[in-house]
Amino acid sequence: MGRAFNFSAGPAVMPEAVLQQAASEMLDWHGSGMGVMEMSHRGKEFISIYEQAEADLRELLAVPAHFKILFMQGGGLAENAIVPLNLSQGGAMDFVLTGSWSQKSHKEAGKYGSARVAASAQADGFTTLPAPATWQIGADSRYVHICGNETIHGVEFHELPELKALGCDAPLVVDFSSHVASRPVDWSRVGLAFGGAQKNLGPAGLTLVIVREDLIGHALLHCPSAFDYKLVADNQSMYNTPPTYSIYMAGLVFQWLKQHGGIAAMEQRNIAKAQLLYDCIDSSALYINKVSKNCRSRMNVPFFLRDESRNDAFLAGAKAANLLQLKGHKSVGGMRASIYNAMPLEGVQALVAYMREFEKTQA
Ligand SMILES: *Cc1c(COP(=O)(O)O)cnc(C)c1O
Repeated sequence: MGRAFNFSAGPAVMPEAVLQQAASEMLDWHGSGMGVMEMSHRGKEFISIYEQAEADLRELLAVPAHFKILFMQGGGLAENAIVPLNLSQGGAMDFVLTGSWSQKSHKEAGKYGSARVAASAQADGFTTLPAPATWQIGADSRYVHICGNETIHGVEFHELPELKALGCDAPLVVDFSSHVASRPVDWSRVGLAFGGAQKNLGPAGLTLVIVREDLIGHALLHCPSAFDYKLVADNQSMYNTPPTYSIYMAGLVFQWLKQHGGIAAMEQRNIAKAQLLYDCIDSSALYINKVSKNCRSRMNVPFFLRDESRNDAFLAGAKAANLLQLKGHKSVGGMRASIYNAMPLEGVQALVAYMREFEKTQA
């Protein structure tokens, strides 16, 4: 079997050109006589890889100069603790609950301060987004946390809330693990954004943190040094050994993004891919997606078969058609197609063709 279309939620599909380039450089990077994972992180070869990756990411995401880009480890889940360790100052934080990931963030932050719920869509089964005007944010809030794209429930903010317009001066923290680089970011509305790399940027092991400078330097005393944003920033993400190979791979992905028109072009592609798949689901009598149309994710599309006894047959047929990892998250069941940047339109076309074909055989 050749390479298939891979709909995994993460770790997820990588651009094939990037994998090929990494393969060709595996044994000897640019005539250095060593592979990237064998290099000292302090040597000039790796420093050049790191600096290029950071500059490319800053350009791609249009990150303003007063934001630091940190390459960390621990994944999105570690940031659920690292963010309050750095930003809470032991005070209160407000969370908007829109699915499993924001729920997890809220629960973890409670270890470090008072973690409140500003709004929750749980009563709707996490199929809607609570309107920002209804959020209950305390006047003493240290920050407001949202998950920009709920990878499991398939719910996405298509516009970041403007907290200032709600009379709130607290910074907005965004978990953008599963939609980073799929669309532009309005940094004027963001204090800090974080995400694991393994959904849309590269291999697992790298965690991206982009944080406004004035939010750095307020870590709690018991914050581990390696997780203190100030130490990480002051040491160019090399306070301790960074995930060098994952940074290199993400850097290749950034170059691939630039070659393909940058984030604006990616966004257009992602809109087209998502439209194709949601149209297929909405026009069918077999498939259903329960998320409100105004907040459906462009990246993660959960769907169900109205006849759930056909789930195994659907997945087996998909695998035979070279369409992999479509099984839904165990907490919600059904199916999920993750269609990140590296999923080509042809992959979604192949999925839609299979879904139509499968539906016909059910008649
Ligand atoms: C995958 C994911 C996480 C968890 O990332 P880890 O790297 O496993 O810690 C957190 N938030 C969101 C939105 C995710 O999609």
